[in-house]
Amino acid sequence: MQTHILGYPRIGSQRELKKACEQYWSGKISLDELLETGRTLTLHNWKLQQETGIDLIPCNDFSYYDQVLDMTLAVGAIPPRYQEIASRKTETDLYFAMARGFQQEGLDITAMEMTKWFDTNYHYIVPEFYKNQEFTLFSDRIIQEFIRAKEAGINAKPVIIGLVTYLLLGKEKEEGFDKLDLAQNLLPVYIRILKELEQKGAEYIQFDEPFLAMDLTEKAKETYQFIYAELRKQFPDLKLIIATYFEGVKDNLTLATSLPADVLHIDLVRCPEQLNDVLRVLPKTLSLSLGIVDGRNIWKNNFQKSLQIIERAIRKIGAERIFLATSCSLLHTPIDLDLEKNEHVLYPEIKQWMAFAKQKLSEVVTLKKLASGNANYDALLEYAYNQKAVEDRTVSSLIHNDDVKARAEVITKEETRREHPFSIRKEIQHHVLQLPLFPTTTIGSFPQTKEVRNWRAKFKKGELNAKQYDKLLKQETKRTIRWQEDIGIDVLVHGEFERNDMVEYFGEQLAGFAFTQNGWVQSYGSRCVKPPVIYGDVHRPNPMTVYWSEYAQSLTKKWVKGMLTGPVTILQWSFVRDDQPRSLTCRQIALAIRDEVCDLEKAGIRIIQIDEPAIREGLPLRQSDWQDYLKWAVEAFRISASGVEDATQIHTHMCYSEFNDIIHNIADMDADVITIECSRSQMELLNAFADFKYPNEIGPGVYDIHSPRVPSKEEMVELLKKAQAVIPAEQLWVNPDCGLKTRHWEETEKALIAMVEASKEMSGQF
Ligand code: GLN
Ligand code: ZN
Repeated sequence: MQTHILGYPRIGSQRELKKACEQYWSGKISLDELLETGRTLTLHNWKLQQETGIDLIPCNDFSYYDQVLDMTLAVGAIPPRYQEIASRKTETDLYFAMARGFQQEGLDITAMEMTKWFDTNYHYIVPEFYKNQEFTLFSDRIIQEFIRAKEAGINAKPVIIGLVTYLLLGKEKEEGFDKLDLAQNLLPVYIRILKELEQKGAEYIQFDEPFLAMDLTEKAKETYQFIYAELRKQFPDLKLIIATYFEGVKDNLTLATSLPADVLHIDLVRCPEQLNDVLRVLPKTLSLSLGIVDGRNIWKNNFQKSLQIIERAIRKIGAERIFLATSCSLLHTPIDLDLEKNEHVLYPEIKQWMAFAKQKLSEVVTLKKLASGNANYDALLEYAYNQKAVEDRTVSSLIHNDDVKARAEVITKEETRREHPFSIRKEIQHHVLQLPLFPTTTIGSFPQTKEVRNWRAKFKKGELNAKQYDKLLKQETKRTIRWQEDIGIDVLVHGEFERNDMVEYFGEQLAGFAFTQNGWVQSYGSRCVKPPVIYGDVHRPNPMTVYWSEYAQSLTKKWVKGMLTGPVTILQWSFVRDDQPRSLTCRQIALAIRDEVCDLEKAGIRIIQIDEPAIREGLPLRQSDWQDYLKWAVEAFRISASGVEDATQIHTHMCYSEFNDIIHNIADMDADVITIECSRSQMELLNAFADFKYPNEIGPGVYDIHSPRVPSKEEMVELLKKAQAVIPAEQLWVNPDCGLKTRHWEETEKALIAMVEASKEMSGQF
């Protein structure tokens, strides 16, 4: 039996990589200093794994920005617009230009697109493909990394994005071909890389092929067979590991187990039920890597359960053919639980249930000792501690709240439905709210200026007391309300100045959430996030937003919109407990938000927005699981929204608006108003709503908030006319694409003034 991991986090326990990259970008450190930071980090990670006792240590899992972009550079898939940079600049500068765009020295070149890595919150840089594209070995960093590991005394296992997965991750930038057609052209570069690695002494190669666990076309399946047959022919002696993760191989079982590799890795955290199927058909030539320690979450492994699984595999195929591993790369977990030293931030009782990347290394190693039957005293002690933590967790009163459980168990139909259908609510709301045609509003946040962030930092450090902090926030809120009144916005917002983050703010006030000091995870490039941890039954001890909404409403005769984050988004952007289904956790959050919605209504707030930007990204990877997810996700939203009277108007907001395939589920949420991001697609994203004859009201964003550019009134009128061509005017609202927290006041003021004028021009037409 051997141990390995699929990859280790690269940002460094003090986010050293983030800091070095940002310093390099702003010219504060040299390229050598940046590369030195990278080398120090990789060396540290290798040594740590070696000391912990990991048998097969990965290399090339490190990246200065993104592992997919690394592959793009390796195979020379440089989009034509970077030609000039490629000829003028260093490889590293070209690499960062592709990631971040380049606006210097008279050049203005856009960055490559970025998108989510499967269902994680990690984002990768999307490869761009052209018809008959040729590839070359452009960067040999993979080989250099292997050599450096070797110099450090480690015969590492290079981690390479599998050829088929690499192509499937990309995007065709012109018509008339299929990206999989490029497999033939790309293969020689892969062969060249493997040849060099083999020459330098590599024994194992890990090909990441997560797509082998996704829905595949016939063509993709054939490409898999073709590519791996070729690689096998060329490299009879290299040990090829094919790594699947994030899903089960399911209907690709025969394909996955018949590819001529040496080891197949499967994710037994996400899909434990695939083990039996795989064991049943696994050919004698293939070893099995059991992805048993969760690479996507922060909970301790349950050794007892894992050992049962490992023993089942041993009985069937023998220990020699088994590898023990993390379910996927540890890229998606924070680095080191030992750094969580402040007991007031993370309670010791909760901490003892958790394991971060470093702790997960030990788990893999200990599992091997325990499973091989020659466990030493330390391993047995580990086992005892592990079982104690697992048992504590099943009964802890910190986690388990009978009232919450009972309430979530019986949800009546009434609790998921507004009193009357939208057609009736609409009339009542129009009567009560008295809004003009093309009413204007914003999505919630106003600029989080340096000052605002400074106040919060000072308040946290104790340099401002609660009263002083409150006073400053009230001033800012009041100013924002006055300003919105002055420029004539119809439905105002309070500005969200009291919030650090749209999930953290609620998590901090809900029971069942914990926070870490250093639990950073890479989101993209140098950007890291610190997700909250949902460890227990969720409820709302006290109102969370009523104070601020009530204050804002007291300042004005216009309507102020209450502002909440929805249950699916809170779930999606947190580490979630693994001892009950996600759907149940989501329902508990929904009930907490419902209480808040009802309290806002009681406090006189008649328009309440429940943001659900993450509902689409929560879609399962396999299409056959979509409806099940959508059923509970939509139900959770409805639970949160349905406690109010017909006269109270519920809004929702979503950022990504490609809703074609789920439009009936969106309609099923039955929000009175939905605001969506639309401006960058020139309102085309509205077509899904138009084709569906979406009955409720819609605010298609009329300008992009991601850039400081100020839109003109005319262009917004143009967009609104486009919208009006497909959606009746009575249904339309006017708003920006998303919240304004990342913008400055200067451009925000100009843009919103123009937006109000655009709305006036539109309503003047009637
Ligand atoms: N209400 C939030 C804001 O305006 C919504 C943010 C989002 O959709 N991501 O900031
Ligand atoms: Zn948004």
